[in-house]
Amino acid sequence: MDVEKVFHMTGGIGKTSYAQNSAFQKKASDMVKHITMETIQELYYEVTPKSLGIADLGCSSGPNSLSLIKDMVEAVEGTSHKIFHPMPEFRVYLNDLPTNDFNSVFKSLPDFYKDLKKDRNQEGPAIFIAGYPGSFYGRLFPFNCLHFIYSSYSLHWLSKVPPALYDEHGKSINKGNVYVSESSPPSVSQAYYKQFQEDFSLFLKSRSEELVTGGRMVLILLGRIGQDHVDRGNSFFWEILSRSLAISVSQAEIEKEKVDSYEVHFYAASRNELEDEVRREGSFEIDKLEMFEIEREVKNGESYGTAVAMTVRAVQESMLCDHFGDGIDLDTLFNNYGKMIDEEMVKVDIKPITFVIVLKKL
Ligand code: SAH
Repeated sequence: MDVEKVFHMTGGIGKTSYAQNSAFQKKASDMVKHITMETIQELYYEVTPKSLGIADLGCSSGPNSLSLIKDMVEAVEGTSHKIFHPMPEFRVYLNDLPTNDFNSVFKSLPDFYKDLKKDRNQEGPAIFIAGYPGSFYGRLFPFNCLHFIYSSYSLHWLSKVPPALYDEHGKSINKGNVYVSESSPPSVSQAYYKQFQEDFSLFLKSRSEELVTGGRMVLILLGRIGQDHVDRGNSFFWEILSRSLAISVSQAEIEKEKVDSYEVHFYAASRNELEDEVRREGSFEIDKLEMFEIEREVKNGESYGTAVAMTVRAVQESMLCDHFGDGIDLDTLFNNYGKMIDEEMVKVDIKPITFVIVLKKL
């Protein structure tokens, strides 16, 4: 499956869209917003460029990206007043894969600009926003043109499903599972880890060419607490998807072989794995690396399981439809998913683990 051509969060603003089902990601980035803002302020204070280049990698199509950009502009504005320096102009590059619904972001730009002007006597800061479609596993921007890179909830996505998950006949070595699980052979976690190393190091190398010296990156991504790949912090959410797909097989809705060959291009790295790759690649220094758990929150009376199911659906729909065909009944699949999460939650809590890493370009 060609991730670059297929993968996107569900576009638009409908009931199953990413825009309507990304409160979890918003909550997580809000929990570490103070770190993001301190970092951009520190950077601005040190470098004071006249034209500040900011990129959001994996901006997606909901309101989250522009909401954060607004906060960044205000944070820099605060610092520039404090040091009696004129406001810089902002170059903002919104990146995501080519099939992302960039248009829905662009449509909200007039309101975004209006909002910024509102409290400033109709004199908003100079902001130039552009969409940059392409994979962040490779160069995206011209040499040295960025000061600050932000990426939230995107870097746990690999560039592809690790090829080593398939044998010489193209059959999966991880049958019945979509990610590392209790029953996966050790070669499965090795295949995922190797793909992560390759991808993350290419990501760092590419960004190091685009960032000025002293430039910063704030990366927020899902991860895992310990060395064990199987935990209730992240892999468990995929375990539930495998179980939901198995139900669809038992009801003859989809074929078992199709489920056997379905694997996600996701990896939950550990703290050590992230640190090792940054060190090995050598272009960045780690300023901060913190782990946090997101508090559970449910909206208007719906169960936690339903909320998780809607979130996972908005994220997985494009890949599931491409693999299983439009015939797959996603309503039933995610109904079962939500029910299972609720049942499991009664037994033991399942809380996603997130890392925030602040890197400084050497
Ligand atoms: N930052 C947003 C969206 C997170 S969803 C938020 O916090 O709400 C993750 C996004 O990363 C998706 O839109 C997905 O398409 C994008 N993404 C995944 N892999 C990518 C890649 N290799 N290059 C660019 N974007 C990618």
